[in-house]
Amino acid sequence: MEAARVQHKDSGFAAVLDLWPKERVKRLIAAAGPEDVVRALSREQLTVQDLAALLSPQAVPHLEEMARLAHRLTRRHFGRIIGLYVPLYLSNVCTSDCTYCFYAVHSGSRGARRTLTLEEIRAECQALARYGFQNVLLLTGDAPKTTPLDYLAQAVAIAREYFASVSIEVYALEEEDYRRLVDLGLEGVTLYMETYDRETYAQVHLKGKKRDFDYRLGAMERAGRAGARRLSIGALLGLFDWRVDGFWTALHARYLQKECWQSAVAVSFPRLRQAPPRHPIRFPVGDRDLVQLMLALRLFLPEAGFNLSTRERAAFRDRLIPLGVTMMSAGSSTRPGGYALGEETLAQFEIEDRRTPEEVAEAIRRAGYDPVWKDFDRAFCEASDGGAGKVISKQ
Ligand code: SF4
Repeated sequence: MEAARVQHKDSGFAAVLDLWPKERVKRLIAAAGPEDVVRALSREQLTVQDLAALLSPQAVPHLEEMARLAHRLTRRHFGRIIGLYVPLYLSNVCTSDCTYCFYAVHSGSRGARRTLTLEEIRAECQALARYGFQNVLLLTGDAPKTTPLDYLAQAVAIAREYFASVSIEVYALEEEDYRRLVDLGLEGVTLYMETYDRETYAQVHLKGKKRDFDYRLGAMERAGRAGARRLSIGALLGLFDWRVDGFWTALHARYLQKECWQSAVAVSFPRLRQAPPRHPIRFPVGDRDLVQLMLALRLFLPEAGFNLSTRERAAFRDRLIPLGVTMMSAGSSTRPGGYALGEETLAQFEIEDRRTPEEVAEAIRRAGYDPVWKDFDRAFCEASDGGAGKVISKQ
């Protein structure tokens, strides 16, 4: 195919994506029949055709069976543990203009913009560590002048004093920048493509470095080459057709599993639930759609971690626990200074699950799993050794 010969300097996955234009993906999904779904459910390792069948409307009558298989696969690969993490927003300053985001420079949001000082980062870390968290995700907007690499490096170094596992969700970096952070103890990189559809991507990203689709697409490959042990990807559900973006997300995850085999690859399912007035949500994703997406991806990617954030309602999150989730955030604030400083700074989005970390942990226990506050990978190894279930007490 002509497109496959295009050289992409920023991302090897871009060439894979070229092989799967949206028209082809839509055709494959639309062509799936009931027999394709049944065949997909009988396979150990799924093909892309199987993935398309499970994402298709034809799979809806099979959701219960998909749930049983997903549950079994997740137990086999991850045991009975669910890791807990907490986001720590370092800054809500952003020079990009993503139409769907309240942090965007032209979002019209009125809340206070704030970038934490190093002392304030320490205070936030102390507050979260006292709660028992050992996994923290540091976030910023896309404003390299306000939160340059040196600032990120200092933030990672401070966070490492308090947490066994530190990840970042910031703007896309160069490989040597990721390497510098990994050398300081960074474990994970989270970066959502938002949508893999180039056309939609161009329509919703109006300004800033983030407009460069290919540079962003290649970020996780650079992070993997730099030694990040955990790579988390995802599409912002609601920007484009969830079946097609879900298909591309699954291909991206499988690609990263192969290319960055020393890293654990995880998928997140952020659903756009509110947006600034200028961004009507054109592709709303219902609860059943989200369930189907998670189940299809679990069957296609049995070894991928699945992250679930507090964007979703508490009761719905509880229902999703047995369907393949491996990491959950809890007690989250999406404002810089939201834990120790108590300031009403601008939030990136309003969280839906407002339970305390201990309440979320209790819900996980009620679902028959062990919440793990400490390093997830180490806990998983202990689980494999028969030592599962040790939860660090908050006391
Ligand atoms: S999504 Fe990220 S880059 Fe875009 S406006 Fe929001 S904070 Fe900035």
